[in-house]
Amino acid sequence: MPQYMALSEKTFYVKGSPATLIHIVDDEAFIVDPGSGDKRRKTLRTIFRSLKVSSYSIIVTHYHADHIGIVSKLDASKVYASDLDSVFMENSILRNYATYGYQVPGESKYLLYSAPDIKVTDILKPPCKIRGSIEITYLPGHTLGQVGVLLPDGVFYIADAAFGDRVLSAVGVPYHFDAILALKTIEKLINEQDMFEKIVFSHGPLLDKKDSLNILELNRKRIADAIGKIREMLGNEPLGVGEITAKILREYGVEQTVTLQMLASVTVRSILAHLSNEGYAEAIVGEKGILWRRK
Ligand SMILES: [Zn+2]
Repeated sequence: MPQYMALSEKTFYVKGSPATLIHIVDDEAFIVDPGSGDKRRKTLRTIFRSLKVSSYSIIVTHYHADHIGIVSKLDASKVYASDLDSVFMENSILRNYATYGYQVPGESKYLLYSAPDIKVTDILKPPCKIRGSIEITYLPGHTLGQVGVLLPDGVFYIADAAFGDRVLSAVGVPYHFDAILALKTIEKLINEQDMFEKIVFSHGPLLDKKDSLNILELNRKRIADAIGKIREMLGNEPLGVGEITAKILREYGVEQTVTLQMLASVTVRSILAHLSNEGYAEAIVGEKGILWRRK
């Protein structure tokens, strides 16, 4: 099986979770989200050789360990990241804190991935361009400063703004630092679909435009549905974040693990914050700790 696929003359897709893009401008290559693990590092080196890439820069879309794991092991001349997310790339303690909301130990058995601190050489302030043709835009929600990378051939790497259908079924409630912002980002992508020819999800299949838009719609519906489900639950009885998370994951028929609960509870908390800001929910102190109820 080939290790990469050409999406255009200058853009190459490397399958994986996350998927990686390689885009070539003149004599320089840009690697979007190189990923993690030794196997991926070796695969990229082989691909660089076959594409005759000698010098490259890296663009990282957000600070999650699975996207940045091998950045420090590659010899990139530059590492680009957004102003809002770069601090969490450079400091793995802050990264861990920002991902889960508290200090899960770095080598914890509960974490899916870990990555060392990486040095960001070029801080991006989106919307902006790299080399005059690579467009960087904010796609916030999954993290606050996540960016998308729109290449001049219309290929748009949207990172974890939305997930493939299999991922969505497996996790039930997708991880979003701020689910409401994530929802707005997805709606914006759907509304502005004329700006791209092809979407690349970090965790999902490579699809044509029509099927990609269906996946975006699936993600939009899932977040909206989760908000609706949580609203409904709060009307019945006061519930803690853990109880709400477990209930909603059960409703989506997901096999529950500690890691999955940890990740989904971040999304749930962000929805509770939103419902509280809207005047719909409030927190009270109960025997089992903080409980949320309809206001
Ligand atoms: Zn992510």
